[in-house]
Amino acid sequence: MAKVLIIGCGGVASVAIAKCCMNSDVFGEIVIASRTKSKCDALKARLEGKTSTKISTAEIDADDLDALCELIRSCKPDLVMNIALPYQDLTVMDACLACGVDYMDTANYEPENLDDPVWKARYEKRCKEEGFTALFDYSWQWDYKDKYKEAGLTALLGSGFDPGVTQVFCAYAQKHLFDEIETIDILDCNGGDHGYPFATNFNPEINLREVSAPGSYWENGKWIEIPPMSIKREYDFDGVGMKDMYLLHHEEIESLAKNIKGVKRIRFFMTFGQSYLTHMKCLENVGMLSTSPINYEGREIVPIQFLKALLPDPASLGPRTVGKTNIGCIFTGVKDGKKKTAYIYNICDHQECYKEVGSQAISYTTGVPAMIGAKMILTGKWNKKGVFTPEEFDPDPFMDELNKNGLPWQIEESPDLVD
Ligand code: NDP
Repeated sequence: MAKVLIIGCGGVASVAIAKCCMNSDVFGEIVIASRTKSKCDALKARLEGKTSTKISTAEIDADDLDALCELIRSCKPDLVMNIALPYQDLTVMDACLACGVDYMDTANYEPENLDDPVWKARYEKRCKEEGFTALFDYSWQWDYKDKYKEAGLTALLGSGFDPGVTQVFCAYAQKHLFDEIETIDILDCNGGDHGYPFATNFNPEINLREVSAPGSYWENGKWIEIPPMSIKREYDFDGVGMKDMYLLHHEEIESLAKNIKGVKRIRFFMTFGQSYLTHMKCLENVGMLSTSPINYEGREIVPIQFLKALLPDPASLGPRTVGKTNIGCIFTGVKDGKKKTAYIYNICDHQECYKEVGSQAISYTTGVPAMIGAKMILTGKWNKKGVFTPEEFDPDPFMDELNKNGLPWQIEESPDLVD
């Protein structure tokens, strides 16, 4: 049985931890370490007695490389699951490398301080060369490929739902359904209602940075960037119904464009209601989404962090969110010389998730694949050495685990396509 160190104890990590405890045959021992230790202790108290997984807790500032190395050396895990924020990715990867431990996370690196000159210079070069302006990209973590390979370690990047399961769906379509995939549309629909005028389903700072940014998609070998929310479509989602959805930039497009050979176009759409968009625009217009510190009555505050303090904690939405999510990928391509289409998706019910683990479906659909990604590494089913995204591994054992762990998927042949 394995021992894992889990960093972070927010909405997503709480589900991943609960799910590890339901897979005690693999996760014999877990250490939950986060900035606020009381949250780790509360979760431990909630889970203990219901699982044979041994749980301990620790306080850690995951921005502190020395403290991370000390923690890893003292608890000697087989794997570190980084489920804190994307800001910590590089420090945790450095610590794993220094201590010789496998690594995984749920979102790719993005800096907290956008004014950092080293990051900024490289970011501006990438914007010019690649043609997309998102604050996050894989290059920072792909830089570790050789180092991880030489050290005989595995790093799995982005094992949530999107990124994560969406890439596993792509690998599955490539392996079983198509000889050649021509287009991929990733559709992320949240039909849930939490009853608040405005709240985000995961960390507000990361979420609002992402959805207020320009959209972009990959077509014929290059990025095409568009103003935020300027491409809108309607789609009739199984289990949810008709929803407006908007084209966003999303991190898995970058890796899929490299790994799905011959793909001509990849787009990502997410559903938003008009009220959400109006609130977001208003907050943006008055400067509340800004990441640059301002001086307020002699104290420095970052507007988006202040906003986060005002908004409901995503981890608290569980009891009040009703409705379903539907996330999946629509493929067009060729099989045995014939044109073909397919849609692989999962439907998840917010209240069912709450009953099972005390969280809403967004945390659930991310936390379950985080546990499964870890299980793939710990059981040796995914054992390549280096730095990888989920589509670079065999999708079959992961797809089996989705069915067994609360995220069953289905395939629709000849689905409605997005124009
Ligand atoms: P939360 O804000 O709920 O939780 C983040 C956790 O990390 C908190 O426990 C926080 O501690 C802890 N943390 C933050 N900074 C540090 C630090 N410096 N040192 C130690 N711990 C720290 O976020 P979510 O659970 O919503 O999101 C977690 C991750 O999942 C994010 O990276 C997010 O981008 C990703 N995600 C991925 C998705 C996917 O489908 N792939 C979908 C949704 C989210 P504290 O309690 O003190 O604040």
